[in-house]
Formats: sequence, C-alpha cells, structure tokens
Amino acid sequence: MQDPFGISESLKHLGIKQENLGSSTGVNWLKSSESYLYSLSPADGQLIAKVQLSDADAYESIISQAQIAFEKWRLVPAPQRGEIVREIGNALREVKSDLGKLVSYEMGKSYQEGLGEVQEMIDICDFAVGLSRQLYGLTMHSERPGHRMYEQWHPLGIVGIISAFNFPVAVWSWNAALAWVCGDVCLWKPSEKAPLSGVACQLIVGKIFAKHGMPEGISNLIIGDYKIGELMSHDPRVPLVSATGSTRMGKLVGKAVGERLGRSLLELGGNNAIIITENADLDIAIRGALFGAVGTAGQRCTTTRRLIVQENVYEEVKSRLAGAFSKLVIGNPLDEKNHVGPLIDQDAVKGYLTAIDKVKAEGGKAVVDGGVLSGEGFESGCYVKPAIFEAENHFEIVQHETFAPILYLIKYKTLPEAIALQNSVPQGLSSAIMTMNMREAEAFLSAAGSDCGIANVNIGTSGAEIGGAFGGEKETGGGRESGSDAWKAYMRRQTNTINYSTSLPLAQGIKFDI
Ligand code: NAD
Repeated sequence: MQDPFGISESLKHLGIKQENLGSSTGVNWLKSSESYLYSLSPADGQLIAKVQLSDADAYESIISQAQIAFEKWRLVPAPQRGEIVREIGNALREVKSDLGKLVSYEMGKSYQEGLGEVQEMIDICDFAVGLSRQLYGLTMHSERPGHRMYEQWHPLGIVGIISAFNFPVAVWSWNAALAWVCGDVCLWKPSEKAPLSGVACQLIVGKIFAKHGMPEGISNLIIGDYKIGELMSHDPRVPLVSATGSTRMGKLVGKAVGERLGRSLLELGGNNAIIITENADLDIAIRGALFGAVGTAGQRCTTTRRLIVQENVYEEVKSRLAGAFSKLVIGNPLDEKNHVGPLIDQDAVKGYLTAIDKVKAEGGKAVVDGGVLSGEGFESGCYVKPAIFEAENHFEIVQHETFAPILYLIKYKTLPEAIALQNSVPQGLSSAIMTMNMREAEAFLSAAGSDCGIANVNIGTSGAEIGGAFGGEKETGGGRESGSDAWKAYMRRQTNTINYSTSLPLAQGIKFDI
C-alpha cells in the first residue's frame, strides 16, 4: 500500500498495531469480547487498524479497578497530581506530529487542525498544572463567636467521559487533565468512529502514571458503542458523566444520570450564527465566515451554519463568499494544499444530501450548490462540496444542526431583528457579530443580546481557546468545560464550620437549653 504521508511510521511511533485491545486500566490491557471495531479512514477509505470492542464484563473490571485507584489518587496532594499531568503534557509535545497525523487520518480533519487538536491537549495540561495549586475555596465570617467557617473542594470519584468523533482527543483531555488534578479518576469511552485515537492516548498516559508508581485505574479506556455509554450513564458508581455529542444523545444521557441524581456535564450540538452588520470590516467578516463554515468540513460543534447579513451589504457578502467558496480545494486532509477534507462516513454524506434536498424543498435558493465528489482521490465517497443557500431562519432544516459544510444566508434590516434571528434556534453554543460599531457590538454582548455560551466580536464562531469556559445553553446542554472555573464541575464542595469557643451557640440565635 502506498503511504505518501507516512501514516505507518506514525502508527508505529504511537504503538498502534493492526489489532488492538480496546480496554485498559493504565498499562494493562484487558482482553474482552471477540468482536472488533474497524477503524476506516474517511480520507481514503482504507482500514487503519481494528480494536477490540468491550463488553459489560470488561466494564465491571475497569470500574472495580478505578474505584481502588481513586482511594489512593484522591490522597495524592493536588500539586503532585499536577506534576504528573505536566509530564503528560510533555509526552504529548513529543508525539504532536504523530498523534496529529492519526487524528487527521482517522477523523478526516486537516493535518493542521489535527496538530491544533494536540496543541489544545498540551495547553489544557499546562492549564491543569497551574490549577493544581489553585483549587481555591472561600472563607466566610461565621455569625457565631469563636467559630471559623470555610469551604473546601474534594474529588468526586470516577468521571465518565463520553466523546464525539469530531474532536477525538482534545475534548477527552479537557475533561481528563482537569479531573486528574482535581483528584478524580477517569473512564473514557471514545467515539466508535475514532477508536484508535483513544488507544494512542491511553498508550501515552498509562505509562506515565505507572512510572510514578501510581495504581492502575487512574486513566481508563473502554472501547464500545452507545451501550457502554448507557452503562456509564446508569451507574451510580460514576458520579459525573461528561458527555459530548448530539443533542439526541445528551437528552438520553441527561435523563439516565438525572434519574439517579448523578451529575452530567453536557456538551451538545450547536447551530451557530455570525451577524454581519453594515459596519463590518468585510475582509475580516468573509474570512471568519469562510473558516467557520468549511473548517473541519463543517463538522465542528461551533461551525458557522447561519450567516445573518444586513440588507445593505447582503449582495456584496453573498458574491464575495461565493467567490471564496469557488477557490476551496477539496481533498485528502493530510495534503496541506487542501482546504476541505471528507465527512466522517457515508451516513454523514446522506445527512448532507438530505439537508440540501430539504432546504430546496422549503424554498431555499442555491448560491453555491452542493454535491458528492467522485473519481481519483475521492474513493472513500465521503468528500462533499461546501454549499451556500439563501434561506429563512424558520425553515425546519435551518433550525436543525446538519453536521456538514452547508451555510445558510439570512437577510435582516435592524440589529434587534438580527439578534432575535440569531437566538431563534433550539441550540445555544457559539455566536459572533462582525462590526466596527461599538454600540452594535455591546448590544450583541448585553443581557438582551446573544443567548449563547460563546459570543464573539470580529472573530468567527469556531476556534475557542482553552482559557475560557467552553459550552453552550439551551439544547447545547448547559455544560462548561476547559478554562475559567470549569474545574468545579469535577469536585464536590464541602462547607466546614469549626467551633473553637467554650460554648455551643446555635445559628440564627436559636435557644435550646436544658
Ligand atoms: P453522537 O451523539 O452520535 O455520539 C457521541 C458519543 O455518544 C459517542 O461516543 C457515542 O457512542 C455516544 N452515545 C450515543 N448514544 C448514546 C447513549 N444513548 N448513551 C450514552 N452514550 C451514547 O455524536 P457524534 O456524531 O459523535 O458527534 C457530533 C455531535 O457532537 C454534533 O452534534 C456536535 O455538535 C456535537 N459536539 C458538541 C461539542 C460541544 O462541545 N458542544 C463538541 C464536539 C461535538
């Protein structure tokens, strides 16, 4: 087999074999069922390698091991836990290009974006190292004399991480790096569409915990389909389930975890818009909209799906965007001259085609029509043309997240109307306004402005930094991961009151004397 991008060499460096065991508690890999998951690259349709699917028995052994590991890990001082996470970050630096290549080949995003994903993992490790010395609680003044009151944060236990295919490694690391410094142990179920990226990460991390004499079970990997995710969601031994994926999945996970009064952290679908006002710097606006709409072939939760454009600049935006789309080069994501890679699989292609049929049926007009590419270089059948349609915000298909590069153009007259359109979808992840007018920008950011978890000015909707809390409102699930104080989701808060006086006064002055 030809290997122009050096995939075999990278797989070798990462320790990926043709057949891989799929469950691991660290450096130990558990043999499970005899069924395998076949990881096919959407870039060229080739089988990359296969991974053993895990069953309920493997799940049970991992949970037992994780429970034992938690007993020890929670007592390791947080700054020492941070030191181990620092080493994980350093190990990722060493394999950045190999892991970035695997992510690109297995998931289909460009090599640059694969590298960016690994960089995000490194960044969150650095963030977590600093955080390991900053897990602050507040102190309060007690109303009772001779009393001291404060709060402290303790680890939760096993954090279940269910991840989506489109960020096969970064989203896991956002959760895991923070959870580890918080003193939790992790059980990761990667997407069944990108299992090898999960195996590669476990191979890197497991060795580092072992080197420090830590027990098996602090970093656990389980390969399986939604059934393993269901086990995690229903299991009271998993106090927090952090699930990234579709809103459909999030509703099921949220319900199952809620029924047992566990905690869920949900990072679900988006339907993100950029408002382009008549005061926009159109060079920036077009570039932001272009990358937002077609980056990762429209398969980011933060992909720009709607462009809400003021009527005075609408025609110019439309023609400049159509021009930019016509220059896009579609092809193998590992080839750096290409801008747009494939969709993840044939189901995604079907979803794309159905959305195009629907927008046309609802009255949408093609500015740049879509289509599936075939012929040399497109053998996987997963390459599609990024498309633009003029549409209305209320169209059923516009209200829906289609995980593909389809951009809807919507015209507006006044800014309040544009903000109302931006907010009139069930999802609430990312949003942006392009304007040089301070009043417009501030109106968009005000309490009466965007209702999303992310609201940007003169930046597109995708490409968040790890320092901010990431996540969205409404059907996006309400979870926050990554920076700011997102770490609090991985810990339990305890309020402590200490009486150092010689009496026992009751709060609120209540008398209870005998
Ligand atoms: P998906 O919902 O099909 O699968 C995501 C994960 O959930 C997979 O690991 C899958 O096995 C698991 N799963 C599916 N059903 C489950 C169930 N009933 N119980 C437990 N686990 C279950 O999503 P996908 O196609 O992999 O990813 C695309 C979606 O993810 C898009 O909607 C995208 O917007 C969203 N996403 C959101 C964010 C965010 O941070 N908000 C980030 C990345 C992706």
